[in-house]
Amino acid sequence: MIKGLYIHIPFCEIKCPYCDFTSFVWNEDGLKKRYVSALKKELSLYKELDFNLETIYFGGGTPSSLSPDLLAHIIKFIKENIKTEKELEITVEVNPKTYRYQDFKIIKDSGVNRVSIGNQSFLEKNLISLGRNHKPEDTLQTVEDCIKAGITNINLDLIYGIPGQTLDDLEKDLKIYTELPITHISAYMLTAYEGTPLGTLVKNGCYNLPDEETTLKMFELIDSFLEEKKFKRYELSNWAKEGYQCKHNLFYWTHTEFLGIGVSSWSFVNNLRFGNTKNIEEYLELVEKSVKPIKFTEELNEEKKREEEIFLSLRLKSGVDLNLIKNKDIIKDLLEEEYAAVENGRLVLLAKGIMVLNEIAVKLILS
Ligand code: SF4
Repeated sequence: MIKGLYIHIPFCEIKCPYCDFTSFVWNEDGLKKRYVSALKKELSLYKELDFNLETIYFGGGTPSSLSPDLLAHIIKFIKENIKTEKELEITVEVNPKTYRYQDFKIIKDSGVNRVSIGNQSFLEKNLISLGRNHKPEDTLQTVEDCIKAGITNINLDLIYGIPGQTLDDLEKDLKIYTELPITHISAYMLTAYEGTPLGTLVKNGCYNLPDEETTLKMFELIDSFLEEKKFKRYELSNWAKEGYQCKHNLFYWTHTEFLGIGVSSWSFVNNLRFGNTKNIEEYLELVEKSVKPIKFTEELNEEKKREEEIFLSLRLKSGVDLNLIKNKDIIKDLLEEEYAAVENGRLVLLAKGIMVLNEIAVKLILS
């Protein structure tokens, strides 16, 4: 049963230098309409699947680079063609410079009840370092307009580990975040991905990211500050007020079936994990010929499922079922070195472990 639908909107006004997502600076309305037609057609290619949608998530790129009418049009199409639950969580990611009150009103009327704002920081120097195209006041206005239009479930993204950022800077940001009437905060450590301009600058020694000790202190500050302000961490990068965890993202980490449509999107259906092409021209051409634009498929056998479950549940505050870990000596080492703790029969990562999640996951998987 497919409970979640992810829709990738790959357009952005600019390409941020650290960005590793599939996104294009592509502002022609005609092309955007062509893309939206392709999304609808792609969804129609999955008619045979068993849907009972509980969540729809518009991610990107910048979904608010589409007009609110186009987003409303897609939602109407989904509701008319796919079985959906009455209580549907519909999230739209929004750039602070795009939507204002009237735009939020239109998407609210179409059913959107959750907005995720790509703020990253309220300090101008951080926004400049990150190459963002908005100012702190744009986000404040976005939050105000969103609430005025009746959408009160709001996430703000935060990035830490920015070159030049101090713990005091981070604390200033956290104060502003927690004084706003929002329900959710996603905090990501800045990563220098290979192939991005930031990745190249770091590789060539022109730009330095904070060292491991500083990023660990930053994570600990975020976690303790937010917990004190009643934002509880439920995943390694996500904190929410009581009752406001993102249902859609929890589907990813709990092996619930979801379909992803749009260029570069991923799906998990019938024990298959499959991904679409990252090439937008190829995506459009295939879908317009009524061909599913899938480029990668992997069937999950029992062992693969165990590996995925370890990897995904390590991210969650509730941790990994100890029965999935074959070599118990690894658990002992992780506890002794304070990378993890055992709670309710599950292995839960501590801050130090979260910083090296991938290494720990590999050890546990190979155990
Ligand atoms: S706005 Fe988001 S998706 Fe677009 S380029 Fe910047 S980081 Fe990437």
